[in-house]
Amino acid sequence: MRVILAQPRGFCAGVVRAIEIVERALEKYGPPVYVRHEIVHNRHVVESLKAKGAKFVEDLSEVPPGAVTVFSAHGVARAVEDEAAARDIPVLDATCPLVTKVHNEGKRYVAQGRTLILIGHAGHPEVEGTMGQIETRVHLVQTESDVALLDVAVDTPVAYVTQTTLSVDDTRGIIAALERRFTDVIGLDTRDICYATQNRQTAVRELSKIVDVILVVGAKNSSNSNRLREVGNDAGVPSYLIADGSEFDPQWVHGVNTVGITAGASAPEVLVEDVIAALRRLGSVEVSTLPGRGENSIEFRLPAELTPRTHTSARPTGRADPAIVIARGSSQKGRT
Ligand code: SF4
Repeated sequence: MRVILAQPRGFCAGVVRAIEIVERALEKYGPPVYVRHEIVHNRHVVESLKAKGAKFVEDLSEVPPGAVTVFSAHGVARAVEDEAAARDIPVLDATCPLVTKVHNEGKRYVAQGRTLILIGHAGHPEVEGTMGQIETRVHLVQTESDVALLDVAVDTPVAYVTQTTLSVDDTRGIIAALERRFTDVIGLDTRDICYATQNRQTAVRELSKIVDVILVVGAKNSSNSNRLREVGNDAGVPSYLIADGSEFDPQWVHGVNTVGITAGASAPEVLVEDVIAALRRLGSVEVSTLPGRGENSIEFRLPAELTPRTHTSARPTGRADPAIVIARGSSQKGRT
């Protein structure tokens, strides 16, 4: 059996940064360090940080007074930031700088007097965080058909922002529907926001041209991993989302010559290796990797409290440094 790995796959710069923030916080302040929500949507990552002393909570009310707390990569609403400040909880903000960029763009559009539309999935923590960062009402649109139901006059100046991990194709359809419905619409689309979402979906499209089955390594609650499975299925290749090798069903590859593997932005490479090991238990496997866009030049700066060169107070101040370090040649330019 041939196994072809998508490139890029797995961890993005926002996930690497978020995990590093928890690890460095544990080193600097000692356990326990509290983390609000799963730092990234992957059980393997969460369990390994728990073993090092991180405590995961869903609500700040579960955090004792004065305990160092990390906000997850998905971002939080203003109300959560305010609650932490009111209770004097020292916060390290692991919100991905590209999510912060969406918050900032949304605020900018509202300041221009536009009605804001968020394209995203209800209930996802990033969507709750983005809606909760904007002072005025935000209209959530999940599908093209939702656009017709918007309670907004067609000549209202509107602007849209998107959840960072959506399907680039689905988003394009929703944006086209907004442009048909409204006379004055501007916005920021996923393709312009998150290089990692765009690159992983492009890689799956390339993979789907040459494989019979696609295995997407990622968690069931990982938005970007679900989108990768959809991209594979939409391209006509049966695609399955699995957390690790233990969820692999040999029936999926029965009579198949070539299997493609990718991984969501929150899935570590060790889980890809685990899936390859599960395939090897069926027989001999030849592994190769597709050429694809390199991402090594993209990294996001850590909060100042956790950088080695900075001598700051022992307590985190609660605000992240959202600066982005991006080398030349990257597809994602600028700073947020
Ligand atoms: S998928 Fe994009 S927005 Fe989400 S954490 Fe990674 S880089 Fe940031």
